Amino acid sequence: MLKFAKFLADNGSVVNIARNTIRSVSKSTSGTSSSAAVSTDTDEPIDIPNPYEKDRSICILCKHNIVPDYKNVRLLSQFQSPYTGRIYGRHITGLCKRKQAEVEAAIIRAQNCALMPAYHKDIDFIKDPKLFNPERPIRPHKY
Ligand SMILES: [Zn+2]
Repeated sequence: MLKFAKFLADNGSVVNIARNTIRSVSKSTSGTSSSAAVSTDTDEPIDIPNPYEKDRSICILCKHNIVPDYKNVRLLSQFQSPYTGRIYGRHITGLCKRKQAEVEAAIIRAQNCALMPAYHKDIDFIKDPKLFNPERPIRPHKY
């Protein structure tokens, strides 16, 4: 529209008519166009939160503030395989290093105290809800 007006202004004779039409157009759309024009005129960056920021993941024991204890066999049994009794690695459990070490120490201590079996999962705890899916680990294993 402005180019059209400039073109008319160059011609000279039709300037008044063009101004009148521009005014009428600008009056009709003044409410939205003026505010949009103000926002687009400033080319300064806008402060927005980073859309690519990853949300910090927190391990399940830290989230619920649980300290693994060797007497809490039911909890510890969720960190071992139901088939072999092997302790799940950190790539499956998703625990932080500290909690994983605490869990492993607690499991070994429970096994030494004969509270937990070493080579299989206790039958009483086999139907407990599965916290981890070893078929789909959080990270693939290194080896
Ligand atoms: Zn943690």
